Amino acid sequence: MPIPILAVTDSRHAAGASGNCRTRSAHRSCGVAGVAPTAPGGSVEVRVSLRRTDPWTPRKDAPVKADPAALRRLLDLAGVDAELSRLAHRRRTLPEHAELTGAETAVRTAKDKLVEVETAAGDLDRDIRRIERDVEGVRARTARDNQLLAGAGIGAKQATELQHELDTLARRQRVLEDEQLEVMEQREAVGIDVEHSREALAAAEQKLTDLTERRDAALADIDASEAGRRRDREGIVADVPAELLAAYDKRREQRGIGAAQLVARRCQACRLELDRTALAELRGAAADELVHCAECGVILVRMKESGL
Ligand SMILES: [Zn+2]
Repeated sequence: MPIPILAVTDSRHAAGASGNCRTRSAHRSCGVAGVAPTAPGGSVEVRVSLRRTDPWTPRKDAPVKADPAALRRLLDLAGVDAELSRLAHRRRTLPEHAELTGAETAVRTAKDKLVEVETAAGDLDRDIRRIERDVEGVRARTARDNQLLAGAGIGAKQATELQHELDTLARRQRVLEDEQLEVMEQREAVGIDVEHSREALAAAEQKLTDLTERRDAALADIDASEAGRRRDREGIVADVPAELLAAYDKRREQRGIGAAQLVARRCQACRLELDRTALAELRGAAADELVHCAECGVILVRMKESGL
């Protein structure tokens, strides 16, 4: 596979030369082919016209004409586009977005708390069952000892031993019953915590549901407004000549606003008052000539109140 050899006709584009076309894409847009296919036996010179080269440089030779009626429609368009921008901003900055994040965190926290107290309640229930089994064992043993003691043929020594064991069992039972009481009191308190935590979780989930509905309603409202404005836009765009619309769209892409009125020598897009030179140029321009704000570059629409 032969290696392509760079061959250029303009010294500004030679490797190392200073110029604006340092990157391949810039090079392409400046109209000079950078890489030429290799012909058998050597390099090939590629000569490309430098005329009509950069698509981004505005052409000065064809001024856009705009009659006052078309400019009025352009202002209508700017009004609709401003409304669409406001709606997009409102969609992004709905307070419900932040509130929902907070509500989701609250639900997670409430769930964690409920798991914590339910686990504590489960542990205490297990303790209660263990104590109950122990108490049951002590009672059975006490009943058996009492039965033996009451039976016939018990010697004095065995009777003393049995009585001793019964005393021990009675003490053990009191200790277990005290413990049982204490654990049941704890379980009761934790049971109240569980109830409160369930209520707190239900309230947090309800708040999340309400907020979600509110957010969805706000978004649906914005959707409906946007759909309306887009329909308005289609109607207006149909009235604006293509060339004027292209000029407007280009300014809007660059600056967010495409066109504005000049009121009392002040551009209504950047709110700056134009200086004498700029005003003189505007006065000198024909009524159907497209003019721009010298400060922010938007299409300026002149009117009675412009102060020209
Ligand atoms: Zn301006």
